[in-house]
Amino acid sequence: MHIVALTDKETLQYTEKAIPDITENEILLKVHAIGVCGSDLRIYKNGDDRVNYPRVIGHEIAGEVVKIGKMVKRFKIGDRVTLGAHIPCGECLFCQKEEGHQCVKGESVGYQIDGGFSEYVVLPRNFVEYGSIQKIKDSTSYELASLSEPFSCVLSGLKEVEINAGDTVVVYGAGAIGCMYIAAAKKMGATKVITIQRSKPRQDKALQVGSDVVIDPNSTNTFEKVMEETNGLGADVVIITAPSASVQKEALEIAKKTGRVLFFAGVKQLNEISLNTNHIIYKQLKIVGTHGAPRRLHVEAVKWIDEGIIDFSFFITHRFSLRETELAFKTALNKDGLKCIVLPHN
Ligand SMILES: [Zn+2]
Ligand SMILES: [Zn+2]
Repeated sequence: MHIVALTDKETLQYTEKAIPDITENEILLKVHAIGVCGSDLRIYKNGDDRVNYPRVIGHEIAGEVVKIGKMVKRFKIGDRVTLGAHIPCGECLFCQKEEGHQCVKGESVGYQIDGGFSEYVVLPRNFVEYGSIQKIKDSTSYELASLSEPFSCVLSGLKEVEINAGDTVVVYGAGAIGCMYIAAAKKMGATKVITIQRSKPRQDKALQVGSDVVIDPNSTNTFEKVMEETNGLGADVVIITAPSASVQKEALEIAKKTGRVLFFAGVKQLNEISLNTNHIIYKQLKIVGTHGAPRRLHVEAVKWIDEGIIDFSFFITHRFSLRETELAFKTALNKDGLKCIVLPHN
């Protein structure tokens, strides 16, 4: 089979290896679609403590079950599925509480084990037992199904900030994740979504996907504009999908009293800045962070995609063959479009 291995920082190698054997508790999946995630780009650029070279990275996977171990009961050959990213150990406190995305072992597909930029991927026993493998509708394409993992993370954030009908929501960043937040927030009843985005192509994407207002912070004072749009009250909900420390600071300023703020994108340690915590106290803000998603929200994400609750095809702007994986990464890094998808069997 063909694989794309990360052999060093910024080095992806298209190469061949034998299709691995599976044990009686494992599944062999034929990868039909795999999305390039922001975290894949970070690993590609900077490496990661959890990733040794060579490693096939990638966790936004949809594919077909082609081989099953004899102890695997829940699946059969030919099942069309999409995956969550986490490999819960099943035993720690968090796994026991169905919060496997916070498992103390911190294992994920495409980190400690080979992931999806490959024609086939082996799903190990813990993943088969405790991870999220969800069957998709016959009418759902593999490429749309591969959005289930990033969308589950979006749902995880939305659960924490609770969008209510009538809310004004500010979204920082209109990449694939930001656009998913915009579309889902509108669907959940937000009456006004304000997006803050520098790049012109992404400003257009934000408007197309349902944002009511777009602010370009290069030319407009974000604080003043948000106040103008909210009768001087600020936003009910602020969602940060851009990895920027100064934005984290600003989010506390533009939030309404009793508002909710979601920190979704991590920032580099070097960019640490001080936050005015008086905003949190005196405006009674709820500040939350989310990372990954529990299995129940991956199940829910698949439902959104299967039922077409929002138009998921909007989020996919580029498609590549497996051989073109490095180009997919470079395209994603250039931020011209939204989600880049690799289709290993095309
Ligand atoms: Zn992802
Ligand atoms: Zn665990």
